[in-house]
Amino acid sequence: MSKRLFFPGDRHVEVLQGTDRAAGRGEVTIRIDAAGVCGSDLHYLYRVPESERGKPRLGVTINPDAVPGHEPAGTVLSIGEGVDTLAPGDRVIVHHISGCGMCDWCLRDLPMHCADKKTYGFDIDGAFASTMVAKARDVVKVPDDVSMPVAAYCACGAGTAYNALRKLQVTSADTVIIFGLGPVGLAAVAFAQDFGARVAAVDISGERRDLAKAAGADLVIDPRDTDVATVVAEWNGSGASVGLDASGNAQARHQLLDAVGVLGRVAFVGEGGGVQIDVSEQIIHKQLTVIGSWVFGISELGGILQYVSDRRVELGRLVTDVFDIDDAADAFALADGAANGKVVITMNGAADSRTNHKASQ
Ligand SMILES: [Zn+2]
Ligand SMILES: [Zn+2]
Repeated sequence: MSKRLFFPGDRHVEVLQGTDRAAGRGEVTIRIDAAGVCGSDLHYLYRVPESERGKPRLGVTINPDAVPGHEPAGTVLSIGEGVDTLAPGDRVIVHHISGCGMCDWCLRDLPMHCADKKTYGFDIDGAFASTMVAKARDVVKVPDDVSMPVAAYCACGAGTAYNALRKLQVTSADTVIIFGLGPVGLAAVAFAQDFGARVAAVDISGERRDLAKAAGADLVIDPRDTDVATVVAEWNGSGASVGLDASGNAQARHQLLDAVGVLGRVAFVGEGGGVQIDVSEQIIHKQLTVIGSWVFGISELGGILQYVSDRRVELGRLVTDVFDIDDAADAFALADGAANGKVVITMNGAADSRTNHKASQ
């Protein structure tokens, strides 16, 4: 039987009968093998009170009846008329933001700013289902040696981390500090380490600090125990040269600006809330460059997958928990607890078990 998830609000999860739609012109039908649980699924759908379902959240339009899930990885089942870039059997992921394809933002591969964009899993049907229909132009092929759970991770969370670090131009000359070691922050640790940087990682969860160590962090810090800026300054003598916030937490954002040294570069990636800062002391007098970074374009998504394949970036070890769709309530309760790595839901019993990239070689 075809299945789909439904969020009625207030942290409830229901498994409903799904509908398998045939691909129309320019579309493909995908059998979903793995779909990642992302922070925005928790913030915009799972934790939302029933009375607030369907309200727009942080720039994303929500249709509460759309199939949720925006990290889809699977296998092409069938193609619609006019599709010549994909074939049945292709292993693929879907870029979750579907722009109009014609406006200035779309032509610059910045579909997140498209006025007519749709987002799979929020206002059009997404990944937490046995099958999904997507526009062929939103679909990217997955290298053979990248597992379906890792590919799903790249479709939003890990890709977002990669894109922010690229914008910050991280190299082996950098010391990078990352706050918030959920799936985005953990992927940032893995990529920054792969770029050759020294990496410090900060989270209140001991489990997540252990995962950051496994991902290659040189230093992990519990911010409740200590003054983070002092620890980092003692560690490398001058403060971090790069900072990334994936926590969305006001105190963490504050500590991040303090832990970055003169001429440092900072990206805010974690969503929501605010922070009060001393602009002179924390930014102007250190001459920081501070940017925001919001997901990534589709042309970059293929590059992210290729990078993970070529460099054998071990994102698989950060996929800590894989659940069958029938156990999705447990998957979301676990992710909600903020002490795990990436949580992935599998459909059709079809996800391969190669979650550890190296183990698949
Ligand atoms: Zn557009
Ligand atoms: Zn996401």
